[in-house]
Amino acid sequence: MKNFSDLGVETSILNAIQEMGFETPTPIQEQSIPVFLETGQDILGLAQTGTGKTAAFGLPIIQLVEPSNRTIQALVICPTRELCMQISKDLGNYSKNKSSINIVAVYGGSSIERQISDIKRGAHIIVATPGRLMDLMNRRALNISTVKYVVLDEADEMLNMGFEEDVEYILAETPKEKRVCLFSATMPKSIRNIANRYMNDPFEITVGKSNSGNVNITHQYAVVHARDKYAALKRFVDFNSDDIYAIIFCTTKHETQDISDKLIKDGYNADCLHGDLSQGQREKVMNRFRHHAIKILLATDVAARGIDVSGISHVIHFSLPDDIENYTHRSGRTGRAGKLGVSFTLLNMRENGRLRDIERLSNVKFEKILIPSAEEVRDKKLVAFIDTIVNTEIEESIFDDKVMTSLRPLLTLPSEELVQKFLSLELRRFSAEYLNAPDLNTTSGDRTRDGERGERGGNVRGQRIFVSVGKKDGFDIRSFKDWVAQESKLDWKELHVDVSGVFSFVDVKEELAEKVITALNGNTYEGRPVRAELSGEKPGGSREGRGGRGGDRGGRSGGGYSSRRSEGGSSSYGGGERRRSSGGDRERGGDRERAPRTERSDRSSYGRSEGTTERSGYGTRDGGRNRSYGDRPSGDKPAGERRRRRD
Ligand code: AMP
Repeated sequence: MKNFSDLGVETSILNAIQEMGFETPTPIQEQSIPVFLETGQDILGLAQTGTGKTAAFGLPIIQLVEPSNRTIQALVICPTRELCMQISKDLGNYSKNKSSINIVAVYGGSSIERQISDIKRGAHIIVATPGRLMDLMNRRALNISTVKYVVLDEADEMLNMGFEEDVEYILAETPKEKRVCLFSATMPKSIRNIANRYMNDPFEITVGKSNSGNVNITHQYAVVHARDKYAALKRFVDFNSDDIYAIIFCTTKHETQDISDKLIKDGYNADCLHGDLSQGQREKVMNRFRHHAIKILLATDVAARGIDVSGISHVIHFSLPDDIENYTHRSGRTGRAGKLGVSFTLLNMRENGRLRDIERLSNVKFEKILIPSAEEVRDKKLVAFIDTIVNTEIEESIFDDKVMTSLRPLLTLPSEELVQKFLSLELRRFSAEYLNAPDLNTTSGDRTRDGERGERGGNVRGQRIFVSVGKKDGFDIRSFKDWVAQESKLDWKELHVDVSGVFSFVDVKEELAEKVITALNGNTYEGRPVRAELSGEKPGGSREGRGGRGGDRGGRSGGGYSSRRSEGGSSSYGGGERRRSSGGDRERGGDRERAPRTERSDRSSYGRSEGTTERSGYGTRDGGRNRSYGDRPSGDKPAGERRRRRD
């Protein structure tokens, strides 16, 4: 595997990115950096956010810009102010040891005079949103006729937001012999047209499959009656509550507020973002979400624009987006920086056709799951709670004589009764809520596909095997499945697994159970003897097939209710740029949210119409900088690595 030095990155930059935790280049960096540095070719990159594309263009730009030449040499254009701030911050970090390079960010919603004076002081690199850039060009406050490198970042998003003419206008003002780098999460015709017109035989890079969305995202859906959507949402959340950190997308402001109110009333750690909230209120909500004080954020597409939070475990589509491309953008908020994520759609029967359209146009493959039964949710909670207790370290200092005396009534109880009392207390809410709770899955009008049955138990029928290793041994779902597959010489597809703190389950077809048990039982893992035996339970309840996540997102270890994350986004939330739809006002539906018009001054001088669409201009950026690609908590060796050592 190549390192950054092999790609031609110079020492001063190498030192800077090393401090940021960049150890090995991401695939897009590996492909783009040498081309950028060593050839004069344009670059056309099909890549989602979270793939490391900022450094893919940022590192070469920092290296190629000449500090002694005090004209604007590089121009990075991006759709939102959050992204703009993030990119300029990233470029600043890469060039930390080259202080003579000036980077100026220009975006709407901030003092234009200040930006003008920053530019006057000398800028080598401008990072800009299109509207503000046009404004500055019109005021003759900046001259882009000297630029050598132009980057169009999240180009599809810029076009979605109605910036096509602006982008073309800006490109026309740059010199003919410049190099152009265009990055886009999707490749609709409009982007191809721009590439054909403004790029010269570009070197094409695709990370993941064309239009396939992020490969780290599992796309799931469940079909319920419209009236059961809220109940199904709660079940999904309850089932995943040990590690959920989710954004739930709704279509209207009213729906967003309504679902948020209901969740809060029902005891969930939730809040919402939509256009009826003041900027101050939105910032407060975002801060709380970023710091995990809120675990579930309800949002409209517009309000979610620019959300920059790392470690999102689930994106939930309570309603499908109006615009199919928005599905990719919504989903792109999870599965970032090498982590895995789930994009889950709650569908009512009428929406089947739209899901098929998304599948076809976005080229994602949806996996049907069943909304877990009440019993499954309860069992999962039980296992998680037991995990937490087993993994809790005793705080000796709490138990002084006085406390021990107070505890006497408890200590005299038989241990079994004590455990039952604690569990009853913990699970009371679920017992009450889920008593006689109905099955929420619909059966009629369902999509069917090979291997996909609308019946409980999913694809795997047969035996459930107990295995005496789990997260404590460094396993997550993926690595455990790898290990079981390798040891038992079975295919991944034949295994369904569920990994808990100190033990795990493997579900296999009846005839394969013996093979797995023979391979694992008596084996050792990291020097620890492994026990594997039939569990006596029926297969099912696995995270994989039950509203669960297709893998451990980010290799967190340990179980329990609360996830132990330490990341926090770093950029602040704010309204993005005002957007315009080239196709007029598409918002007919009642309180469909419109884009905030925070950048009037930016573009009013061009006398353009202002129809806005509800499209998400997302400046999703990962705030956790000090992590290596394929993030995991430091010190926590991935099971894969351990396994390799053992091999
Ligand atoms: P981007 O796609 O540019 O938004 O990057 C997504 C996240 O990955 C950001 O937090 C980056 O700091 C991080 N990142 C980018 N490249 C690397 C790398 N080579 N190693 C580790 N982290 C990276």
